Amino acid sequence: MAINKTVKDSWRRQTKLVRGGTNRSADAETSEGLFLTSGYVYESPEEAELAFKGEKKRYIYSRYANPTVSMFEERMALMEDARHCVATASGMSAMFAALICMLEAGDRVVASRALFGSCLYIIDEQLPKLGIKTELIDGTDLNEWERALSTPAKAVFMETPSNPTLDIIDIKSVSDLAHKAGAMVIVDNVFATPILQKPLELGADIVMYSATKHIDGQGRVLGGCILFNDTDYLEDYLKPFLRHTGPCMSPFVAWTLMKGLETLELRVAQHCKNARHIADFLSGQSVVTKTLYPELGSHPHKALAMQQMSAGGTMVTFEVKGGKEAAFRFLNALELIDISNNLGDTKSLTTHPATTTHQRLSDEQRAELGITPGMVRLSVGIEDVNDIEDDLGQALEAV
Ligand SMILES: *Cc1c(COP(=O)(O)O)cnc(C)c1O
Repeated sequence: MAINKTVKDSWRRQTKLVRGGTNRSADAETSEGLFLTSGYVYESPEEAELAFKGEKKRYIYSRYANPTVSMFEERMALMEDARHCVATASGMSAMFAALICMLEAGDRVVASRALFGSCLYIIDEQLPKLGIKTELIDGTDLNEWERALSTPAKAVFMETPSNPTLDIIDIKSVSDLAHKAGAMVIVDNVFATPILQKPLELGADIVMYSATKHIDGQGRVLGGCILFNDTDYLEDYLKPFLRHTGPCMSPFVAWTLMKGLETLELRVAQHCKNARHIADFLSGQSVVTKTLYPELGSHPHKALAMQQMSAGGTMVTFEVKGGKEAAFRFLNALELIDISNNLGDTKSLTTHPATTTHQRLSDEQRAELGITPGMVRLSVGIEDVNDIEDDLGQALEAV
């Protein structure tokens, strides 16, 4: 029996998450090998020449490729059913590289307005400095997309569910409109996780992740990745950009993230189960004026969410009566749940978007995004859900 098993198409997702991409060395290790090496040696100058000409496929330098990082990339690609996966140092380097590698001055980008803060910075501030025209719209309104995409565009960027209001964007309809306008569609799939939503199947061209979130999911490392099927995009744009600018993933990070992938499906299932329970609990509290969770009947885009996602997700956003002061009283009263702007972690984490992740925005911008002073975002962990509920219940008494 070979020490390296051949991946079968028939393998189910959980098997791919545990086994996919594993490439054992001659030492036949059980766990994936951690190749902490920056470079590689050649048997001869002839071999080095062939490698640099691209006539011999082998590792050259870890800024280009590394055996441990390659294993992570292959496992991710198998899970996402994508032809290509490229790993990066962080979610932001994935987002920036995915976009900038194919853009030039004069190009046009259309994006939904409800974005992760740093993604918003890139689209709203960085790209325009380079002569790229950008337009931010209400992503939940298909008429807005239709209007914005009646002019040709090079790229469309969206996040669904969005941070922190959990708005849902119709990936399929927007992708159809974008393709007619000549644009490639990039979806930031961090909140949905690769387990709950498959943007490539819905018509998107590129999916990006902050692997820092659910893929690690245990608060250890920063990482990112970009997944897609278009080989020309890889060879002509993304690969040269990443090789020469250098935001590569460290082998140690790739190794850690592979351990994360092994339990991703199990963790996400438990996160979702807990989140649903907590959303129902919060909906019944008199001091909670609004609970946002895509699976709740009260969510404005529930039908669309259930069509393109297999569950409501790991995040619950809610609003307490009494604005910022009440929200802070609530946060200060928590005894189990941590205050942290991170998310997708095994530990329940909560944040006050108006004063942290969305602090840079003006009052008007926050109002436009529906981010109110009493709003709290909760990343529901995998502790016993009764303990999470008890903590929320006792802290809500402080409101
Ligand atoms: C965290 C996050 C990012 C950025 O990822 P980093 O790994 O922190 O660089 C991008 N988009 C979303 C939705 C995120 O939550």
